[in-house]
Amino acid sequence: MTTAVTLERVSCVFGAAGREVRAVDGVDLTIEAGEFFTLLGPSGSGKTTCLRMIGGFTLPTSGRVLIGGADVSQQPPYARPVNTVFQDYALFPHMSIRDNVAYALMVKGVDKAERHRRADELLALVELAGVGDRRPAQLSGGQRQRVALARALISQPQVLLLDEPLGALDLKLREQMQTELKALQRRLGITFLFITHDQHEALSMSDRIGVFNKGKLEQVGTPQAVYNAPATRFVAQFVGAANVLDGDAARALAGNASAMLRPERIRLGAAAGARTSGTVREVQYFGAFTRIKVDAQGVLLQADLSDAAGAPVPAVGEAAHLHWDERAVHALDAAA
Ligand code: ADP
Ligand code: MG
Repeated sequence: MTTAVTLERVSCVFGAAGREVRAVDGVDLTIEAGEFFTLLGPSGSGKTTCLRMIGGFTLPTSGRVLIGGADVSQQPPYARPVNTVFQDYALFPHMSIRDNVAYALMVKGVDKAERHRRADELLALVELAGVGDRRPAQLSGGQRQRVALARALISQPQVLLLDEPLGALDLKLREQMQTELKALQRRLGITFLFITHDQHEALSMSDRIGVFNKGKLEQVGTPQAVYNAPATRFVAQFVGAANVLDGDAARALAGNASAMLRPERIRLGAAAGARTSGTVREVQYFGAFTRIKVDAQGVLLQADLSDAAGAPVPAVGEAAHLHWDERAVHALDAAA
């Protein structure tokens, strides 16, 4: 496989001396051609800054950015073989949808008939054939999102950068667009670099995920690796729900100074053979599962009980005996 994007010790520092914000802090990353790669992290962790340095909208303070193996660190955005779908779509309100999509070709001087033909092709690709004559205000949020996608794809970028493109959509539409985006990416074979703060989105769409925290990449791996074998405490807690145990509790329950146990790996059972027992403090119904919090000798453990399991869910104040498989426990590096 060839490499689509390489970041070499890339940092970006904003602000005057003494009040610097290290938005991106020494990031090394390699994204392969054709990958659906997601940068996942909380708000303010440096995702957008990282993407802007790949797009050329922000220059790194130090380090190098390579695209397709070529150093583009000092190149302006238009010279890079990438395009960006921004969070707010940034469509031109007074232009027709067709002209919005064809914009990059107009800038390049492609004649009108050809650029309209290409724009209509792209609109068909995103299932918006027939809306070319409308204005952005006459479309729904989901449709505008697709227009932004078509507009970014028309210049045939090697890498498409997407900064929280689904953030403005309601849940149902967002889930539909997740499936469509992923299918489109497979069909086109273009490398997608997708940004989100939503762990479900990252887990369900990506070939690999890079988890960002405070300007640093804490882990890069497949969704399964990041979820089942988090490299750090932060990753364990940010990607999915987690019981993170420390000190004596960790040693007693998990045999390690620091450990993680996913709530869905805990089952209720008999007192005999239970790993620990305690009193139910909270019960929350989520439909597919019920989340309970059990105070087990001062350690609060969260368990997600599948509705499909059919077992009765205890009420607040009742006793619960917790069971789990030894393999459900993931040891964490206490320092990380
Ligand atoms: P994310 O996209 O993960 O929410 P950002 O990359 O937007 O994070 O921001 C990372 C950090 O850099 C934040 O602390 C933010 O306030 C700061 N930052 C981003 N852009 C600028 C800028 N142009 N000037 C100063 N600080 C900035
Ligand atoms: Mg951002």
